[in-house]
Amino acid sequence: MAHDALFATERDCLWHPFTQMQEWSRRRPVVIERAHGCTLVDVEGREYLDGVSSLWCNVHGHNHPAINAAIQAQLAKVAHTTLLGLSSVPAATFARELIDVAPADLTRVFYSDSGSTAVEVALKMAFQYWQQEPGGDHRRRSRFLCLTNAYHGDTVGAVSVGGIELFHKIFSPLLFEAYHAPSPYCYRCPLGLARATCEMACFDELASVAERHAEEIAAIIVEPLVQGAAGIITAPEGYLRRVRELCDRLGILLIVDEVATGFGRTGTLFACEQEAVCPDLMALAKGISGGYLPLAATLTTERVYEAFLGGYQELRTFFHGHTYTGNALSCAAASASLRVFSTDDVLTRLAAKTARLALGLGPIAVHRNVGEVRRRGMMVGIELVADRTNKESFPWQERRGAQVCDRAVEKGLFIRPLGDVIVLMPPLSMSLEEIDRLTAIVAESVTEVLE
Ligand code: PMP
Repeated sequence: MAHDALFATERDCLWHPFTQMQEWSRRRPVVIERAHGCTLVDVEGREYLDGVSSLWCNVHGHNHPAINAAIQAQLAKVAHTTLLGLSSVPAATFARELIDVAPADLTRVFYSDSGSTAVEVALKMAFQYWQQEPGGDHRRRSRFLCLTNAYHGDTVGAVSVGGIELFHKIFSPLLFEAYHAPSPYCYRCPLGLARATCEMACFDELASVAERHAEEIAAIIVEPLVQGAAGIITAPEGYLRRVRELCDRLGILLIVDEVATGFGRTGTLFACEQEAVCPDLMALAKGISGGYLPLAATLTTERVYEAFLGGYQELRTFFHGHTYTGNALSCAAASASLRVFSTDDVLTRLAAKTARLALGLGPIAVHRNVGEVRRRGMMVGIELVADRTNKESFPWQERRGAQVCDRAVEKGLFIRPLGDVIVLMPPLSMSLEEIDRLTAIVAESVTEVLE
């Protein structure tokens, strides 16, 4: 198709996610045709560095020979068969491999196909667990405790445990009620305290909500170490560990949403490893297939799994499943992606890359309109402010974050903001030279847009 006809078709037929289409349809879109490594190539041959890993999911680069080969080999056998009533070689094989690298007590894998569904599954499993947990009547444990600024996906259950006003407010009549505790957002502390002296008072708030309602709470759900969609909000060290201890003390299940943080993004394979935490349920998606194909998994312990066992007549079955659950091509890609972590020694080599990223962020952090640069591994948030002395934000209607990202796209770097937070999330495979280019373009774009 000629380019103009293609652009017209895209404008006439597509509705893009999280996008004001009235604005979009006035712009000439970047239409991607192919990609290699960390470079995206559009239909007109222009190249862009993939600065957000294609929405936080690409891990080892695009068109990776080992992952391509694994998918092609599987495709020559079969693309998809159901897990309802059948099993498949790639689904069983990858489940074993995942358990071997996951935190020790996680021994069961339930597949689905997106981060949102992995979270829905975790919520429903936790709920049903308490409805039929042996050894006492715990049916009152039917509510969830979550954090403000949380993001767990866009399906109705995941939104119910989310805490981002901008995305979630309109849907509030559709949602179930959840308890909320303050987000560990140190730069803009919801309690008005300073990190040096607060002694993690936000955790105490969480603990007091949990204690007050312990008998009603099925699970606490958190994003470990980093609240991603809220603007890469990094939790203070030890926060996650304390949440685990709180859950243990009150007998509450802990759901950890590793959809964004999993598969190396924070420097370790899973973020919970950094605080030696094993959750009761763990939601995985995005990077699980190397960013190739839709796949998600909810992992859980034998204790949770066993509560679902019984004669069919006891109705303990987990009545949940999606058509493409455990898709064979996705599982083959996921196995290959996991193998690349060891063959390419990805996590060991990551330290030099995160150091280089930190170095490149240095000059950006001192810009007068940069309030804070937050980073965990390869996850970066650059919070733009009108005035750094009092942290005053720009009027949101000015969309400074979007302006900076538009400028970066013109310079050959694809990034996307979260409000006035510029997000950088390079694939783990990004080279040192590419990381330098990434940070240099961001620095230039910030300077030019916010002169
Ligand atoms: N949980 C977290 C922590 C996420 O960051 C996201 C997506 N950004 C999701 C869940 C939802 O994942 P998906 O978009 O695949 O449904």
